Amino acid sequence: MNIVIIGAGYVGLVTGVCFAELGHRVVCVDRDEDKIGLLSAGRPTIYEPGLEEHMIRLMSEERLSFSASVVDTALADVVVVAVGTPQRMDGASDLTDLESAVRSFARFLREDAIVMIKSTVPVGTNERVREWIKEETGRNADTVSVPEFMREGSALQDSFHPDRIVIGSDSEQAAARAADLHAPLTSNILHTDLRTAEMIKYASNAFLATKISFINEMANLCDKVGADVQVVAAGMGMDPRIGNAFLKAGIGYGGSCFPKDTHALLQIAGHVDYDFKLLKAVIEVNQTQRKRVLVALGEQLGALEGLTIAVWGASFKPGTDDVRSAPSLDIVPELVSSGAAVRMCDPAAELGFRRAYEHPQVTWHKEPLSAAEGAHAVCLLTEWPVFTEVDLTLLRSVMAAPVLIDGRNAYQGEAVKEAGLYYTAVGRPVLR
Ligand code: NAD
Repeated sequence: MNIVIIGAGYVGLVTGVCFAELGHRVVCVDRDEDKIGLLSAGRPTIYEPGLEEHMIRLMSEERLSFSASVVDTALADVVVVAVGTPQRMDGASDLTDLESAVRSFARFLREDAIVMIKSTVPVGTNERVREWIKEETGRNADTVSVPEFMREGSALQDSFHPDRIVIGSDSEQAAARAADLHAPLTSNILHTDLRTAEMIKYASNAFLATKISFINEMANLCDKVGADVQVVAAGMGMDPRIGNAFLKAGIGYGGSCFPKDTHALLQIAGHVDYDFKLLKAVIEVNQTQRKRVLVALGEQLGALEGLTIAVWGASFKPGTDDVRSAPSLDIVPELVSSGAAVRMCDPAAELGFRRAYEHPQVTWHKEPLSAAEGAHAVCLLTEWPVFTEVDLTLLRSVMAAPVLIDGRNAYQGEAVKEAGLYYTAVGRPVLR
């Protein structure tokens, strides 16, 4: 098939690679000409393990190409829409990019083409997509909602081996074509109506966010009663009804999906006068949880004015350069306001973070140990292996004071203590 993907970001680029690997001819279209220039030169614009190798080979085999023009849509059997749907000030999804993308390619659509929406969109949006196309062309187009579940950091693996594919449609023929396209990837294909497919995406992310906020509340309680949340989570996870995924206490979730999708779901509920109390609490717990690093620093060091704090990790999780809604973007400005000098390190997210936040009190360092030099405390915000595998004795030797705040419960407490460091994690005993 000829496939055109609109929006060559995390989802669009990885989806393009995946469909091209299946043998289709894929053109990724983006309105950002700089991005298209880099991609056309074989340079991935995001960090995602394995992406560059796939991209370069597929481009040389002429199965994957990039374009800044929606005119390419005229060739497509399937048009996949993967533009961003960021959070508006009021919490709802901003559909401006989606609407302008759809209106821009509508008149080039072939009569037999299907439009597949992969962007995460509020319930009812796929129906609006059809209306926008009708307004532009006077024609009814077949739309299918195929929400995306890939995780940054393992996006290629997730695309090649998805747990499930959800296909929402009210056209049997379009649903069957979407199913054919995904059949080589999994036999777990769930067919639904459009609104249910849209809701499955929000329900999945909200549920995972709930698990995280739940275990973080348990961690806070463990702190007060002297229990170890790591062991509590392990014990809970042995029950297959609970499962051990997403039961890792820490400083909360971030990224381009959970924060915005939980807020968007709250808005969806609000529009139909439904008071989603549980979800409100999930969001509130997550926001408060980030402050734990600052509270722990205060407990260990008192006022931070004039002190040096090393921050390890800027991306919202390891394996990605994405800093959207990352805890680092809340924590670092707070450290700066409290008068600390901040020494940062991240293997992939320096550029992204600096685009969002720069300050003369913040310096960047290529190696974890250089960032820790002269620091009164090291705060681990993202559990990249380069941080968790560091030689702790060496770490202690370069620091000015022995404080390690582990926002991700990534170290063995006893090993930290043996290296001569004071150790504060989340929901685990403080060791010194
Ligand atoms: P992104 O910001 O990385 O990429 C979006 C791309 O769309 C950008 O390159 C932008 O330039 C382009 N774009 C915007 N408007 C356009 C237009 N009119 N024409 C052409 N290109 C246009 O976003 P993303 O992280 O890939 O997310 C895309 C969608 O997928 C969102 O709805 C998101 O919620 C959803 N999603 C993301 C992930 C993830 O892990 N990132 C996972 C599942 C679902």
